[in-house]
Amino acid sequence: MTMIAFIGLGNMGSGMCANLVKAGHDVRAFDLSADAVKRAEAAGAKGAPSAAEAVSGADAIVTMLPAGKHVRAVYETAIFPNASEGVLMMDCSTIDVATAKSVGEAAAAKGFLFVDAPVSGGVAAADAGTLTFMVGGPEAAFEQAEEFLSIMGKAVIHAGDPGTGQAAKICNNMLLGITMIGTCEAFALAEKLGLDQQRFFDISSKASGQSWSMTSYCPVPGPLEASPANRDYNPGFATAMMLKDLKLAMDAAATSGATTPLGAQAEALYAMFDGLGGRDKDFSAIYKLLQGSWSKA
Ligand code: NAD
Repeated sequence: MTMIAFIGLGNMGSGMCANLVKAGHDVRAFDLSADAVKRAEAAGAKGAPSAAEAVSGADAIVTMLPAGKHVRAVYETAIFPNASEGVLMMDCSTIDVATAKSVGEAAAAKGFLFVDAPVSGGVAAADAGTLTFMVGGPEAAFEQAEEFLSIMGKAVIHAGDPGTGQAAKICNNMLLGITMIGTCEAFALAEKLGLDQQRFFDISSKASGQSWSMTSYCPVPGPLEASPANRDYNPGFATAMMLKDLKLAMDAAATSGATTPLGAQAEALYAMFDGLGGRDKDFSAIYKLLQGSWSKA
């Protein structure tokens, strides 16, 4: 049995942690929230009183934290000083490429194996163990990480050098934000033109306008049973999360010199929607803003 430390037991981390327990691993769990630790204990993990105590003696470490500053702080103050020699570290948070690279470099300099392994798929996929992991890091670290990540996901893909897991994540989500807005605009225009939304879905999902935003996450109520659109746009993947990922993408575009005008538009539209009260709604609710029916209540 492998002893795994799991730090960050929020919406995503709680299900991921529970899946490692279900696979028979001895999991020591820590979160700043005592309630989150209690939930992990109820799922079979052992609660730890601090991140330092969770990682000491662990064979592998998983982190699932909000942003780069949390990841840097937890690794520098708790993980690096207390982890056993040569231990495997997997950061599954979505963070900026620069922090992922520098934490990865610091880990390697100390002789640890580190991968940045952000995920695609929301809370339902985290609970079901069907996430997609995009992994950056040395081959040796990837080979070891695959065993654990495949318990929590349906696909584990090696993106390349340290930081490329995060690069893949933000490029993917920039594309997702853009296709969602485009899909919403198309539905709003279809409606204005008197075209039935179900009929438009039936046609476009089999025509060249097809995308994941259309056929797996349709932003209008009706065509797809599982869409957040059918449950008052409760997330799912919240607008605040999409905006976070678009900001990461735009920061990375600015520092790398990439030209991403549609990414910038998507960021501006999601920032507007966030400001108008859409923050906690699913990101597909931007349809209501574009269609003209959004109201905060
Ligand atoms: P969350 O806010 O629900 O969970 C984060 C957890 O980290 C919280 O429980 C918080 O208490 C804990 N935490 C913060 N600082 C800590 C510290 N210093 N020590 C220990 N615990 C600490 O967020 P989430 O939705 O679980 O997302 C986690 C990461 O996954 C984020 O980077 C997010 O962008 C990414 N992500 C989220 C989704 C989604 O649909 N929610 C999908 C893909 C990726």
